[in-house]
Amino acid sequence: MNSHTSIAQHENPQLLSMRSSVLVVDDQVSNIRVLHALLGEEFDICMATSGEDALRLIHESPPDLILLDIEMPEMSGHEVCRRLKSSDATQHIPVIFITAHNTPEDESLCFRVGAVDFIGKPINPEVAKARVRTHALLKRQSDLLRDLAYIDGLTGVANRRRFDATLDAEWRRCSRNGSPLSMIMIDVDHFKRYNDHYGHAAGDSCLQRVAQQLANRLQRSHDLVARYGGEEFVCLLPDCDRQGALVNAEALRQAVESLGIEHAASGPMAVVTISVGVASMVPANDTPSRVLASLADRHLYTAKSEGRNRVSG
Ligand code: GH3
Ligand code: MG
Ligand code: MG
Ligand code: MG
Repeated sequence: MNSHTSIAQHENPQLLSMRSSVLVVDDQVSNIRVLHALLGEEFDICMATSGEDALRLIHESPPDLILLDIEMPEMSGHEVCRRLKSSDATQHIPVIFITAHNTPEDESLCFRVGAVDFIGKPINPEVAKARVRTHALLKRQSDLLRDLAYIDGLTGVANRRRFDATLDAEWRRCSRNGSPLSMIMIDVDHFKRYNDHYGHAAGDSCLQRVAQQLANRLQRSHDLVARYGGEEFVCLLPDCDRQGALVNAEALRQAVESLGIEHAASGPMAVVTISVGVASMVPANDTPSRVLASLADRHLYTAKSEGRNRVSG
């Protein structure tokens, strides 16, 4: 999963009932046919006839599970598995070896190179099906848990943990590419008064609406909206310079104001508004990413002290 996948894709309640995709890798097409006949009804099967093809396919479109032949002419299944397990992008994809090698040493080696299981040849259809089902379900569950661990429970946008991880990754990527990274720090104006006036439950639903509006308004798939804490949100805009970030920030400010959520105790508008701080830089890899956050925070403070419901950057 791409680290910038939008929140809607993480929230799919059908996740556990969706069909899992299984990549079958075998140099002999007849073996692939057997597995396809066995599993095709229940799983989306794709296939590769060499280790190289498999690695290319996996990087283009990662499957949920890989059934991997060991004996192949160019690159062995063991080598394919080692490579998958040594890359961040693919190490979480479970690999099951399909193997005619059944000495205890052969079996141990499967696990040593990183497989979750093996299926002996000749294939026992019921055993093969059961193992594939088990590991496909476990994979779905662990994907779901990982996604949930990165979502804010109240608002459904990314949480602070996800933000920190993404900031780190984007900081390094933009530093390598020499491209700008922008951060937009957002704080709801006079939100304590909102709670005091309308109650905490209304405060919660206000935060939900603000979060959704922010998420809807940021259009690029690799922009991230996260709840930074309390009534604070943050947006990360990779490959976006200061000018672009200021335009986005103003659009976000207007979008929240245009929700028209009544806030009698706020400023003259009497609706919920946000103050926004913008920071942008081309990251240098010897500078810590927190300098970007503290710069955005300083500008947010300026926006507050200059009267709120405004952008500073
Ligand atoms: P300012 O314009 O200076 O930001 O004023 P403020 O009142 O928004 O700032 P302050 O930091 O004093 O208050 C933030 C309030 O946000 C206090 C806290 O109760 C409320 N808050 C934080 N998290 C939540 C939440 O999850 N739900 C609700 N309902 N309120 C929250
Ligand atoms: Mg073979
Ligand atoms: Mg605050
Ligand atoms: Mg506030």
